[in-house]
Amino acid sequence: MRWKTAEYTGWGRVLKATGDMARPERVSALKSLWADSKGPAIGNRRSYGDVCLNDKGRAIDMTRLNRMVAFDPLTGILEAEAGITLGEITQVFATKGWIPHVVPGTGFVTLGGAIANDVHGKNHHGAGSFGQYVNRINLLGANGKTRIVTPGDTPDLFKATIGGLGQTGVILSAEIQLKPCASAIMDVRENRAEGLDEFLAMLDRSTATYCVGWIDATAKGSTLGRGILEEAEIRDHTVQAKLSRAKSVPRDAPSFAMSAPLVRLFNALYYRRVPQDGRRLDRPMQDFFFPLDRIHNVNRLYGKNGFHQFQCVLPDATAREGLAEMLRAISKAGLASPLAVIKKMGPGRAGFMSFPMQGYTLAVDFQNRPRAAGLIADLEEITLKSGGRIYLAKDALTRADSIAEMYDELPDFTRVVNAADPKGVFLTDMVRRLKLRKIKP
Ligand SMILES: Cc1cc2nc3c(=O)[nH]c(=O)nc-3n(C[C@H](O)[C@H](O)[C@H](O)COP(=O)(O)OP(=O)(O)OC[C@H]3O[C@@H](n4cnc5c(N)ncnc54)[C@H](O)[C@@H]3O)c2cc1C
Repeated sequence: MRWKTAEYTGWGRVLKATGDMARPERVSALKSLWADSKGPAIGNRRSYGDVCLNDKGRAIDMTRLNRMVAFDPLTGILEAEAGITLGEITQVFATKGWIPHVVPGTGFVTLGGAIANDVHGKNHHGAGSFGQYVNRINLLGANGKTRIVTPGDTPDLFKATIGGLGQTGVILSAEIQLKPCASAIMDVRENRAEGLDEFLAMLDRSTATYCVGWIDATAKGSTLGRGILEEAEIRDHTVQAKLSRAKSVPRDAPSFAMSAPLVRLFNALYYRRVPQDGRRLDRPMQDFFFPLDRIHNVNRLYGKNGFHQFQCVLPDATAREGLAEMLRAISKAGLASPLAVIKKMGPGRAGFMSFPMQGYTLAVDFQNRPRAAGLIADLEEITLKSGGRIYLAKDALTRADSIAEMYDELPDFTRVVNAADPKGVFLTDMVRRLKLRKIKP
């Protein structure tokens, strides 16, 4: 197994790393690396900031370790290597009557990456987070030994591995519970919300299994927070539904592609695409779960300097006021892209550092321009004063003391990962930037 020096980035392409990378195809090859050099595992780098970067260090790209190991068609229990993507699992198993309980907004996420960020989907309010459906993890530790980690036998190590940013070891494979599904087609209802109050009321009233809102983050005044709510169920039988046409962004877009007037125009048209009294449509599951995946290199739309995604969750009690303040700040700054998403969250989370909390989550993309960092710092302040949290999978800018205030189980996490990896073999740029672990030299 050879190390190759590479420059690489996360999905947002703002922060970069240069270092040695290995791409083992077999566990035996990965273990043979361990004799002389170790490093954190990374997946498909669908995290936005520096959680998947190790500048001037080594990293193990897990994407070639992507085999399915075993599947029980009676129980829906799947064991697979960590580099398989959730999109592949969904594609292979949906037509056989099974899908993952939880999938995020892209199918390119690996099983290891989904565990290490305890990802959530459009059904978090009912189903909780990905880690709640992980039965067992096969973990390669800093000492070169493999151990089985389960919620029952090793609860602390399990809670430090789920949402644990790769700090307890390399996830080689995992056993997950799939859920039955009757078809690979979604029955989707789309309705307009004319403003934030109506949007939150519609989210609260919704009884749909899957529920996600698009917000026009350029709207102001009485239309502040307007958008479209999508509610969906898996159809109980297969009907015809065409997959959207695959597209590609061949090169970095010019910076004016995300200028305020163009984004305002795009958003107004996008809002009106749904008739005033709503509409209903059948959509292939892959299109509904992973809407951006059909556009290859969609992140190039933000131009060569990349972009940030800010994602927070605010608790029920403060969400209305906090979200309104955020949306006012965003629309005043004129920096928003067309991508702004709101979802309701339930309490489900499986790790010490898992992001979800009961409330509402808002995610907004901002092109990387000089004023973006200042705006995101203001949004961080509103999140803090609202008692909310920022999602580490998306972050490149938050301050270390803010994260310590938002994640009250950080001391438990630090205690367990420092015991598992006392020399800091698995440190990444984010862990250093946010001072998530203190390693004595
Ligand atoms: C378009 C888009 C939509 C998204 N929508 C959502 C969403 O709806 N909900 C949501 O929760 N997230 C969402 N995300 C974020 C994404 O789900 C997470 O960032 C996910 O962790 C990325 O997985 P990855 O395989 O690319 O891992 P990477 O980004 O490469 O790594 C993420 C973390 O996992 C660790 N890691 C990866 N593999 C292993 C392994 N085998 N062993 C140990 N540690 C490992 C890395 O060290 C790092 O800390 C979205 C991202 C994009 C680009």
